[in-house]
Amino acid sequence: MDSHDALPAHAPVVIVGAGYAGLSAAVHLRDRGIDALLLEGSDRVGGRVLSERRGSTVLDHGGQWVGPTQRRLLAFAKRFGCTTFPTWNTGHHLELWHDGTRRPYTGAGPDQGPGMSEYLAAADRLDALAARIRLYDPPSTPEAAAWDSETAHSFFERTIPSADARRRMALAVQGVWSCEPRDLSLFHLLFYLAAAGGFEQLMETEGCAQERRFTAGAQAPARAAAAHLGPALRLGRRVLGVEQRAGEALVHTDAGTVRTRRLVMATPPEATAALSFTPALPLARRRWIHRSPMGEVAKIHAVYPTPFWRESGLSGQATLYGDHPVGVVFDNSPEDAATGVLVAFVYGDRLRRWHTAQHAARRSDVLAALAELFGHRAAEPLDYTEKIWPADAWAGGGYAAVPTPGTWYAHGADGWRTPTGLIHWAGTETAEVWHGYIDGALASGERAALEVADSLGELG
Ligand SMILES: Cc1cc2nc3c(=O)[nH]c(=O)nc-3n(C[C@H](O)[C@H](O)[C@H](O)COP(=O)(O)OP(=O)(O)OC[C@H]3O[C@@H](n4cnc5c(N)ncnc54)[C@H](O)[C@@H]3O)c2cc1C
Repeated sequence: MDSHDALPAHAPVVIVGAGYAGLSAAVHLRDRGIDALLLEGSDRVGGRVLSERRGSTVLDHGGQWVGPTQRRLLAFAKRFGCTTFPTWNTGHHLELWHDGTRRPYTGAGPDQGPGMSEYLAAADRLDALAARIRLYDPPSTPEAAAWDSETAHSFFERTIPSADARRRMALAVQGVWSCEPRDLSLFHLLFYLAAAGGFEQLMETEGCAQERRFTAGAQAPARAAAAHLGPALRLGRRVLGVEQRAGEALVHTDAGTVRTRRLVMATPPEATAALSFTPALPLARRRWIHRSPMGEVAKIHAVYPTPFWRESGLSGQATLYGDHPVGVVFDNSPEDAATGVLVAFVYGDRLRRWHTAQHAARRSDVLAALAELFGHRAAEPLDYTEKIWPADAWAGGGYAAVPTPGTWYAHGADGWRTPTGLIHWAGTETAEVWHGYIDGALASGERAALEVADSLGELG
């Protein structure tokens, strides 16, 4: 049977979306002897994780890094025979400050850099507040109303006197949440820190979220899981809507209807919002979905014959302030350094300015920034690619959704991930560990699979 064959009329469980959340749910149900049908609208698995081989180099256009505390992802990769290697983290990083100053540094930032000590102190204060978040029931956190009524921007203005430290915090927010501080509630920021294990975990490389990469690309474990699932996975099957009736759900797709006893929705909020639900979803869930816009990020790769920046003692990592289109740069070369690859991230306001330009102008803007950092050789790559995630028809943005201020407090208790009749909710946006990350997606799929297994057990 081919993954594009006709759909069955019935399946005990249907899962919608073959990103890491949907794949995790399907694999866990299979492990428990429950056959689930996994429906994916696009022609591939992996969702917001997309690896592309170009010549001898694999480029990760979406999620790529895995850290040592992301144990589910490491175990999933191991199970499916996928190896990792350390992110290149040797040499001096560079900071291009908003006034044009170029500073080399190692560690979290230049020790003598403007606003650096105030920035680190502010990060410690955020960690102390994050320790108060109740991860499994976030809206029950005593300070939820106050923290969800404040934006990260207003909190930084109020509590960080140094404008330079606030500049650093703004780039940290863009880099981690792919939005501007004015769009992020203090509560969601703190929840995210708590879910990841702290500020440093999110920001750093060694021992933290950016520690390792996948040898064959971060999509490789997803592809291997798809092979394991075989015909239980159907690609090119867009789900249009879900109708719940007494004891069963009808999943309407562009290739027919499947009846099922339980459903796992593992689509990002923006994609879920485009579906029709009968009866309508409860108000809290609807509001949660509609008030959770996707982050805005583009990932750009420039490929060179060698990682030439290493010859001059540079790590290839850089942070850029001011008007540059690019916010952060990393060395994304393959493990054997057979080619040299720089990856550049464009987020938030910078993305909105940059992405409306023609391709040639976008390319020269990014390459000019890379040349300012690494010299004229950076302006002449062998290959150049862009993946602008808000333009992705299936995800609608990335890295993840960012609930608007007030959403957690008003709608989180019932709207975050409480099952709706026969529907169970998965996706990284429903995770309480590594929320927004691949590891969170896997955790959410596992939780939804357990909910389904429990409910089917009860049904007998
Ligand atoms: C640029 C970028 C960089 C990132 N970097 C990292 C990183 O380094 N490390 C990390 O851990 N995370 C990273 N992330 C985040 C990570 O990729 C996501 O958190 C994770 O992949 C989300 O998985 P998911 O299964 O929840 O959702 P998705 O991957 O979005 O999967 C949802 C699936 O549902 C499908 N779908 C949508 N609508 C329908 C429909 N109507 N019918 C059927 N199918 C449908 C989609 O095609 C998709 O396959 C990054 C993300 C981006 C965009």
